[in-house]
Formats: sequence, C-alpha cells, structure tokens
Amino acid sequence: MKRIAPITKNEYIEEAHFEDLTHDGNGVTKVDGFPIFVPDALPGETGRVKVVKVGKGFGFGRLVERHSDSPFRQEPPCPIYSECGGCQIQHMTYEGQLQVKEKNVRDVLERIGKLRDLPVNPVLGMEEPWRYRNKAQVPVGLQDGRLVAGFYQKRSHEIIDMDHCIIQYEKNDEVIQKVKDLCADLGIQPYNEQSHKGVLRHIMTRTAFTTGEVMVVIVTRTKALPHKEELIKGLTQSISGLKSIVHNVNGKRTNVIMGDDTRVLWGEEVIHDSIGDVKFAISARSFYQVNPEQTKVLYDQALAYADLQGEETVIDAYCGIGTISLFLAQKAKKVYGVEIVPQAIEDARKNAALNGMDNVEFEAGPAEVVIPAWYEKGIKADVLVVDPPRKGCDEALLNTILSMKPKKVVYVSCNPATLARDLKILEAGGYRTKEVQPVDMFPQTMHCEAVARIEWEGDPHVSDD
Ligand code: SAH
Repeated sequence: MKRIAPITKNEYIEEAHFEDLTHDGNGVTKVDGFPIFVPDALPGETGRVKVVKVGKGFGFGRLVERHSDSPFRQEPPCPIYSECGGCQIQHMTYEGQLQVKEKNVRDVLERIGKLRDLPVNPVLGMEEPWRYRNKAQVPVGLQDGRLVAGFYQKRSHEIIDMDHCIIQYEKNDEVIQKVKDLCADLGIQPYNEQSHKGVLRHIMTRTAFTTGEVMVVIVTRTKALPHKEELIKGLTQSISGLKSIVHNVNGKRTNVIMGDDTRVLWGEEVIHDSIGDVKFAISARSFYQVNPEQTKVLYDQALAYADLQGEETVIDAYCGIGTISLFLAQKAKKVYGVEIVPQAIEDARKNAALNGMDNVEFEAGPAEVVIPAWYEKGIKADVLVVDPPRKGCDEALLNTILSMKPKKVVYVSCNPATLARDLKILEAGGYRTKEVQPVDMFPQTMHCEAVARIEWEGDPHVSDD
C-alpha cells in the first residue's frame, strides 16, 4: 500500500514529539503515523520542525527550535563531531545511548520478528566508552599543498585533517600522526581521487590490546614506495611497540581501502593479541573485532549461552579467523568452523596451532554449502553458533539448521533487523528464542550487537502477521 504523505515540503510541525532514533542517529517524529527524520533531536524531546523533504515512505525535517531537552542530552565531547560521519550519538550521555540501543533491539524484534515478550536484557556497556578502538584507517589527500589525513566529511569525499579521535586508542592517534609527519617530511605525494594520481592513499594502524604490539600499513596506488628506507628508519625509531610495517598496493579506482598486493616491509607479518585465554595472530588483511574489551564480553556471553559440558560437537558458522571457534573449543569436545574467505581460514588454522588446540577443524566456503555437506557426511552439531555479516544468515543455512535440529543455536548478530527476520524463520520451524543479550561494541555510534539463545522445542511458533 502506498502511503500518501500527510505533510508537504516547507510546512512546519509546530510541536513535534521525538520517539526514536534512526541508525544514522536522526530523531524520529510522526505526523499521522508518517515518519519524519530530524537531525539533532533526541527521544523524549519536543520542538518546531520545518519539513525539508518528503519521500515515499518518510520525510526529512530540520529542527528550528527545541522546546524541551532530553535528560540525556549532552555537549558532544569531540570538537569535530558535527562534521565527521564516524559517531552518531555523542550528543547523548552513555546511559541514554544504552537505553536507546536496548529499545531499538526490542522494537525491531517485535516489528520484524513478531517476537513479543521476549526477554531482552539491558545492554552490556563499557565502563569507559571512549578510546576503545584498536584499529584506525585514515584516507590521505592534499589540501593547499599540504598532506592531510583524517576522515571524509559527512556525505562527501572531502578529507578533514584530524590529529586525534577520541574513540581511538591514544596509541593509534600517535602512530597516525607520526606516519603523516614522516610522509610529509619525505615529500611522499598524497593520492588524488579525481585524477587517480599521487602515491599515498591510506594509513592503517592496529594496536593489540593485551600485548601493545603495533602494526602500520601503508597503502599506495603505486607498486613502488618512494623513500622506503627512510620511512622504515623514521617509524622504527619513533614508534614504541612497533612490530610490523606492511606495504599494500591498491592501484584501482575504488573506495575499497586495500588492494591484493601485500608485502611486509619490516618486522613480522602479524601482531599478537589475546581474548581471555586464547591467543590470536592478526595480519594486515585479517578481520579482527575493533573493540577487544567488549569482544571478550560478547564471546563470554556466547559461551554462556552455548552452556558446554565438554562432550558437545559445535559448529561455528561465519567463523572469520576462528575467534569464537577457539573460544568455544576450550569447553567443547569438537568444533567445526566455516568461513567464506580462504585467507581467514588459513589464519584460523594457524591460531588453533598457536593455542595448541587440536579439537578444531576449519573449512573455507559458504556456510550454506559447507554445513549441509558436513551434515550429509554425518557431522551433526549439538550447538550451532552463527555470527553472520549485516545481511544475516542465508536461507539455505536456516533450512539446514531446521533439518539438523541442533539442541541449541547461539546467534551473534551485528544487525537486529536481520536477527529478527532469521529468528522468525527458526521459530516457525520449532525453535524458541529464550533470551537476547545486547552488547555495546561501538559506543557513540548507533551500532549494536546482540546474542540470542535459541533452543529446539519441536513445536512451531506461529506468529500473527
Ligand atoms: N566470528 C568472527 C567473524 C564474524 S564477521 C569474529 O567474531 O571475528 C562475519 C564473517 O562472515 C566474515 O568473516 C565474512 O567473511 C564471513 N562470511 C560472509 N558470508 C559468508 C558465507 N556465506 N559463509 C561463510 N562465511 C561468510
């Protein structure tokens, strides 16, 4: 049904009430049920809004005057918050952020999954919700003859120069500054997106939380890195904890940061970190969670929901470099991990060896193909863990779960909307969602992770939509 907008562009809403926040951090007000998204408006606030755009199912407005402030409103601590697109809710206290995320998870499960009265626990947040990111990657450009590096301005490709970012480890800020200064001093030409000329495209750095080991990745358009030796000398002399300098070549016109050609310029190919008692080797291209402190909280929750007694066979679908698999292998009889990126599976195998774990097996391929093949061969999970990307689980995988019928499914999700969609399918097939635990991996942003405990009950749950 096509919704006729009850309001037109340039009209005013005299007393708008804001109820929710969108994933971009915009306030949502409704006119006869028709949603209008308004920047810098928080749930619970009221104000006068000018409608600036009306689309098919929703519109946009501008807050002309705020009539009442949310008790959670605060001055955003970052001076460049309003220009940068990285954080969305710095204008809200952390307590308010956690409440909004909990409500969002609950609302989405109800709206999309038709799962009412589900126990959604309060979000597990951080003691100190700043300086939590272990990885920084910044684009480099030239402005007024000067090398700049920082972030893209909201909805543009204009680079804003930045010397610190308060959700990053201080070490990452320091490293990025050093690399910037050195490259500028050595006259290494920044890349120009329009002309596709120049050399230096991105600087990436990752600092391991538990060991303090640092990796620097220099991404260039050209195969050659000018002043390579001086750069190595400068970096090794000035960065404490530096363990690895990597050069990545990306010669394509693309928004993707890294290219396929990666070589170690100095030091090791990997840095090491631990989550709980499990060690990981992380290479330049590895996917590794960016908030290690909260990753431990998330994985502990997954482990608690799996409730392993030592005799179980576990499947970890979407296993990446084997982080959750190895965490579970500490308590299970056998863990099978599957992941679509072959290099990640190589890393996963190395990580198993690094920890002396021989009760894990990894296979590269799509989970929705590999798990049915395992099932045919007689590999059946007691507990199945999924941690899919934002688009959620493939339907073929959900169908395999419904035929395999593991007693427990633990669903780790970075997108409540697809979690809700997939839970609905599992519920219709005889599973029941017992509990959902949101975990805040990305304070100051609208992202929220959640872990769901799902158990086989045998009778289909029919929703009323
Ligand atoms: N569990 C890991 C990684 C989660 S991210 C961790 O916590 O670190 C999701 C992973 O799913 C990515 O590594 C991505 O490469 C992988 N992936 C995406 N589609 C897939 C598919 N169809 N089958 C298997 N893995 C897939």
